[in-house]
Amino acid sequence: MLKAAARMPDVRGKLTAGRSLSELTWLRVGGPADWLFQPADLEDLQLFLRELDPQVEIFPMGVGSNLIVRDGGLRAVVIRLGRGFNSIDIDGSRVTAGAAALDAHVARKAADAGVDLTFLRTIPGSIGGAVRMNAGCYGSYTADVFRSARAVTRDGQVVTLTATDLNFRYRQSDLPDGAVISEVTLEGPKGDPATLHARMDEQLAKRDQTQPTKDLSAGSTFRNPAGFSSTGQADDVHDLKAWKLIDEAGLRGHTHGGAQMSEKHPNFLINTGGATADDLESLGEEVRKKVYDSSGITLEWEIKRVGEPAAE
Ligand SMILES: Cc1cc2nc3c(=O)[nH]c(=O)nc-3n(C[C@H](O)[C@H](O)[C@H](O)COP(=O)(O)OP(=O)(O)OC[C@H]3O[C@@H](n4cnc5c(N)ncnc54)[C@H](O)[C@@H]3O)c2cc1C
Repeated sequence: MLKAAARMPDVRGKLTAGRSLSELTWLRVGGPADWLFQPADLEDLQLFLRELDPQVEIFPMGVGSNLIVRDGGLRAVVIRLGRGFNSIDIDGSRVTAGAAALDAHVARKAADAGVDLTFLRTIPGSIGGAVRMNAGCYGSYTADVFRSARAVTRDGQVVTLTATDLNFRYRQSDLPDGAVISEVTLEGPKGDPATLHARMDEQLAKRDQTQPTKDLSAGSTFRNPAGFSSTGQADDVHDLKAWKLIDEAGLRGHTHGGAQMSEKHPNFLINTGGATADDLESLGEEVRKKVYDSSGITLEWEIKRVGEPAAE
């Protein structure tokens, strides 16, 4: 176990020992990280990783919209990028964003400049998290618009990563162990700004109609077994959609402690108020078992679960 007293490099950013992660995740659960590091800028991040004992694990975190951090927390240094990694620059149809920039901000700024990254508007994560998860919706994926990423490796080197390096798959990509994405370049088709903004407004309204956007969640709990995002189109095929399998197994609205499979969208696991990470994960595992019993299909988690359970 990493001790809070372990020697940490001198940094310009903020280092906090024993920081609770529950306020930093969308589901509002999770025990403490041994350390939380919020680097001031790229050089600060490089220096930190270069000087940190190579045995110490690091965990890069975006805005925690796809995470269950377990109740015992993380025996690692959690690295969370902030203000020094928020820039958004546009050159023609290319958009380069710091990894901490929110997907919604990137989509809006791109639309102002007539670049279509509209699918990112309703995804609540950061651009670093979008690359890591190959986030997507309405039939588009981050991989479709990805050009390159800059990352800092565990030993503090800055490297450029291509789509081949990242090997994008449905809701997954490969990243060298311990690397932190610091900047991402995307390229979208050109479009009329007013049309792009109108499309984003429509997509926001559609989300509010079909998903529990006001509840605490981490988006889709399980991947669709067919390996595709919902397109949101009227002719979308619902076979092998995770929500359909959960619904058919009678688990819409099912609860465990403070955790619930949403009544509105049964593939959304929600914290109804006092849920622990254990309530959420146990409910998810129960759903996986019951869906398997009723359909023979094994649901795979899309939400990443990290850290340790609470000590007995
Ligand atoms: C209401 C709601 C709706 C959602 N809808 C969608 C949707 O339509 N489509 C979709 O794909 N997802 C959706 N999600 C899930 C989530 O928003 C995405 O997976 C998002 O890309 C996660 O980004 P994040 O910054 O929150 O990453 P986190 O949840 O913080 O982390 C996710 C993973 O990315 C890694 N990571 C994050 N930042 C970095 C970095 N800078 N360097 C290296 N690794 C990093 C983390 O280590 C972790 O493995 C939804 C979530 C919510 C709450």
